[in-house]
Amino acid sequence: MYQVKFYKGDYLERQRAANADGCVAYVEQHFNSCGDPAVNYTLVITGANASQTSRNWGRWYASAMAREFSLPVGGDQGIMVGGYNGRGDFNLRYTRMPALLLEPLFASNPQHAEWLRSEAGQTHLARILCESIQRFFQDGVLIGFSVGHKYKTTRSNDRGCGVCGGGWEADYAEAVLNKTQALLEEVEAVQEERLVQVMDGDKVLWDLAIDPDAEIAWDEVRGVLRINQPQVGASQPEVATRRRKRRSSR
Ligand SMILES: [Zn+2]
Repeated sequence: MYQVKFYKGDYLERQRAANADGCVAYVEQHFNSCGDPAVNYTLVITGANASQTSRNWGRWYASAMAREFSLPVGGDQGIMVGGYNGRGDFNLRYTRMPALLLEPLFASNPQHAEWLRSEAGQTHLARILCESIQRFFQDGVLIGFSVGHKYKTTRSNDRGCGVCGGGWEADYAEAVLNKTQALLEEVEAVQEERLVQVMDGDKVLWDLAIDPDAEIAWDEVRGVLRINQPQVGASQPEVATRRRKRRSSR
């Protein structure tokens, strides 16, 4: 139900083309870099004119990154509105749809570089981005992707920063977006139920659709995930406890 289109050319050109195509969301993938190899936060940039949806979507993505990779979030609760002294703003400000510039990891941090250079790490990043898009954009729609630095008309050799251990920011950014495209295009339907999943790495071992009002608590001492479904007397709605069909690979 999702279609993905990659936009190339200078950043203004990309944004105008995405507007003309009626994209409902736009993502530009980058990685951060800095002289100090210990710097390790996750950050999303929005345009200075970003909508509340862009901000919420950016914060959702940054906090998911922070949890999955045990990282601090940078900026204001994970987002930096308007970029670094304006850097990043020009990449987004002409979009007429919610738009993010992602800087989830530092190419200059050896641990981060290992993640972003590996297939498993790229898939992990792709899954978080895919889930964020599913969370914020419910209908079958066109999503615009832009690989930061690469495919510009001017400075066509730009590949962004060098990555610790080898390679260039833009090539790994492109790998992550390609994997995200594959995941998005596998999505068959809007997620209409609130879902609890048990995962091993990238694999869903078990999942359950639960009531939207259920309370969930993980007891790490007993190893019990308690799901307190609202009590509705004898006839609990079937959806509240229905086990979903297991998907073979996700
Ligand atoms: Zn960059």
